[in-house]
Amino acid sequence: MFVLKGGRVVDPASGVDRQLDVRIDGDQVVEVGSSLDGKGVDCRGAIVAPGFVDLHVHFREPGGEDAETIESGSRAAAMGGYTAVCPMPNTDPPQDNAAVVDYVWRRGREVGLVDVYPTGAVSAGRRGEALAPMREMYNSVARVRMFSDDGDPVPTARLMRRALEYVSAIDGVIIEHAEDPSLRDGQMHEGDVSAVLGLAGLPAASEEICVVRDIALARMTGARLHIAHISTAEAVDAVRRAKAEGIRITCEVTPHHLALTDEAVRTFDANFKVAPPLRSQRHVDALKEGIANGTIDAIATDHAPHPAHAKDKEFDYAPCGMVGLETALGVVLTELVDPGIITLERAMDMLSVAPATILGAPDHGGPVAPGHPANLVVFDPEETWTVDAMALTSRSRNTPFSGRKLRGRVIHTILRGEFSVRDGEIDHG
Ligand SMILES: [Zn+2]
Repeated sequence: MFVLKGGRVVDPASGVDRQLDVRIDGDQVVEVGSSLDGKGVDCRGAIVAPGFVDLHVHFREPGGEDAETIESGSRAAAMGGYTAVCPMPNTDPPQDNAAVVDYVWRRGREVGLVDVYPTGAVSAGRRGEALAPMREMYNSVARVRMFSDDGDPVPTARLMRRALEYVSAIDGVIIEHAEDPSLRDGQMHEGDVSAVLGLAGLPAASEEICVVRDIALARMTGARLHIAHISTAEAVDAVRRAKAEGIRITCEVTPHHLALTDEAVRTFDANFKVAPPLRSQRHVDALKEGIANGTIDAIATDHAPHPAHAKDKEFDYAPCGMVGLETALGVVLTELVDPGIITLERAMDMLSVAPATILGAPDHGGPVAPGHPANLVVFDPEETWTVDAMALTSRSRNTPFSGRKLRGRVIHTILRGEFSVRDGEIDHG
């Protein structure tokens, strides 16, 4: 039993935002109030919030353990303040059956630093042809309710229709990596910068085409659709209109699409290569507006580790992806809360409550209240730090934020009443 003392509790699920003590006994919060006695953990000056939930990570296990493992990814997640993460199925073999999703789920439990909820593949082998055995994954130990072929879009309207029809029976959700399959042979956002650099472009319309197709199918089937890493003004507008119409759609945005533009690619540094690509300022502005007006529901990192030898190539030949778990909070506070685009409470909603709701994980996202699991983050909202790629906990170093100053740093992460991170370091308990 211990008490988090004197912190500012920011709990969107209950609307609380004030200084309170939080008593934790066993795996639960048992009391929230003023001047609670008992063994204390000093949280004065810190924020106490529900632990973060990441709908979109790549942990590379099985098959890509030189980049990340479920253990190293769990450590990076805990260091970033996360208590739950959802690894995407583009592993080798892919998470397209009960055996593989159960392995990932169990391995997450063994490591025990964050709850690991694997997302299942939409198509068998992620080949975009026939549906994967979704019911089998749903009935497995991992209880999979989110499905995606992320890394690739669901290639045809026919397959997406079948997938949406299938998940509506289990109240599942299809997560779309929205790119038109025939417009994917580029290296970066298509625009002024790609023209100057002479790199083949990925047009913004590619995302819009796929999102609009999927919205039509979500309307037809009544099923739940979630757009991963939304990156363009037109796609945000399409989601806004679909929501207004009552279609069951949600979407996420990554920290890197908010903090960086295609100008970064002028360095030809492959750490800025990502799918969807970093867009122009007009799109970044539209993403921030989409956050401010509530169109964009959640922040998700798309944490995509790659070993140095893979990224240390000419831009054209390097793989897409960036690590992001350990910098997400800092980017959100620096890019969204500091300039007044959203409140701290909304930031906690986008990092925790909204993704927990989309995932369907009632143990996460709060409320910070008696009888609820103690899955919490404690962070210093004022600490300014400089990102050092070599100091990251992830097995990979491919951050686009190396050398960047961020404000806001995790002090403690608590999973079911136990510290996974204590005083900024992994707690080996
Ligand atoms: Zn993706």
